[in-house]
Amino acid sequence: MLFSRLVQVSQEVAATSARSRKIALLGDLFRAADAADVPVVIPYLAGRLPQGRLGIGWKLLDQGVPPASDPGLSVLDVDARLTAIGSVTGTGSQAERRRLVGELLASATADEQRFLFGLLTGEVRQGALDAVAVEGLAEATGAPPADVRRAVMLAGSLQTVAQALLAEGPGALERFRLTVGRPVQPMLAQSASSVAEALGKLGACAVEEKLDGIRVQVHRDGGTVRIHTRTLDDITDRLPEITSAALELKGERFVLDGEVIALDEAGRPRSFQETAGRVGSRVDVATAAAAVPVSPVFFDALSVDGQDLLDLPFAERHAELARLVPEPMRVRRALAEGPEDLAEAEEFLAKTLGRGHEGVVIKALDAPYSAGRRGASWLKVKPVHTLDLVVLAAEWGHGRRTGKLSNLHLGARNADGSFAMLGKTFKGMTDAMLAWQTERLRELAVEEKGYVVTVRPELVVEIAYDGLQRSTRYPAGVTLRFARVVRYREDKRPEEADTVETLLAAHPEVRP
Ligand code: AMP
Repeated sequence: MLFSRLVQVSQEVAATSARSRKIALLGDLFRAADAADVPVVIPYLAGRLPQGRLGIGWKLLDQGVPPASDPGLSVLDVDARLTAIGSVTGTGSQAERRRLVGELLASATADEQRFLFGLLTGEVRQGALDAVAVEGLAEATGAPPADVRRAVMLAGSLQTVAQALLAEGPGALERFRLTVGRPVQPMLAQSASSVAEALGKLGACAVEEKLDGIRVQVHRDGGTVRIHTRTLDDITDRLPEITSAALELKGERFVLDGEVIALDEAGRPRSFQETAGRVGSRVDVATAAAAVPVSPVFFDALSVDGQDLLDLPFAERHAELARLVPEPMRVRRALAEGPEDLAEAEEFLAKTLGRGHEGVVIKALDAPYSAGRRGASWLKVKPVHTLDLVVLAAEWGHGRRTGKLSNLHLGARNADGSFAMLGKTFKGMTDAMLAWQTERLRELAVEEKGYVVTVRPELVVEIAYDGLQRSTRYPAGVTLRFARVVRYREDKRPEEADTVETLLAAHPEVRP
């Protein structure tokens, strides 16, 4: 396939907001593609490189190479040349890389050059493309869209399914079934602002504890256990105690979904960082396991004794789970018929928070497991924490935010009236807010060093965040998780901002 064709479709897809038009464009593109093009076409469409990072940035690209007048490159040529550039090493490699990049750019038209710049600097990411690409692929191959979607969900990769479909036609979909030993993308939850909202949307449901651990999918086939993360990485070797627990369960062949979490002796969760650090550490697993043991807490069963349960309602999948997994290894839950059980559901949330967990996930009892999706049948409810903090500095933005002061440095008050920086955020700002804060912060600027503008600590901003984590980088020893701006509080003076002391008191879980 010609590279120019892909570039043109990519531009047209980005330019239209009509889903049906995107699907038609991608359908045509797949019809014109060979199976061999797929491993390049799909990542390029999403703005990703199949090679991962190649270290080709603006410096190498910005050579002022005049574009070719006619397109001649194929997608496979481009991929092969990029692989070659990525593999240049040793003395003189920088000059050689520059020469090869120059050669590639000289063969590219102006549109192709622009696409390459975006691709190589990571600026053409099109995150939401996969769902439309699935529909386009169905259209191109004549396979039913629902079957393609299920195959992609089970293969955990659009690319694998696209290749098989283009090479063999719709019959290839048979191969993509739920198989013990092959991980599938986990189902994800959407957010609801309250238990009442969730009960109103879902009807009969289970209200489950939301544990702040690491998502795991556990596959057992006889004596073999494999453990996968949410991103499908195999972490079996890091979690021997989870393997032992899986081997003690009654079933011989199953796939279970759950969370691993480090609990203290009283059964309360240790900090998220301890769990994450434990799950992340590959070296000296035995010592790590002794210091921070983790427990599995399961909440779903995807396959049991060779039977694929994905399409069954949650109530039936949970019955299978309960048959296999003893209660202490299952997530705590309460059942609700609907909004009439609001009081009980809220009490369950309050108790869950009291036990040190982060919230609840409320799940429709009649819904199938929709792997890889933020399904509307799982709704998470977490109390939102907010703080009034002071802007200490701001960083000039990039890309769409060039010329705007964007990333805010946030501080809480110390007892002596000074401020301790707690973290940064560029999230939650509207365009109007960005424009306003740029003006305002410029007025308060006291120093500009590189891209950081330090300001007089006078502006109070309300920040929502999901929790605290320990940090050696920040002076209070903690930083905010998922901080985002809610609004500016011009009605507040910096002396009224929240203090480090009250913040730490509200989060006993991060105390050393
Ligand atoms: P979030 O990461 O905030 O989108 O929340 C979704 C994550 O919560 C899932 O990916 C799981 O790792 C985690 N989680 C904790 N408890 C549950 C539960 N009972 N059901 C589903 N997910 C849960």
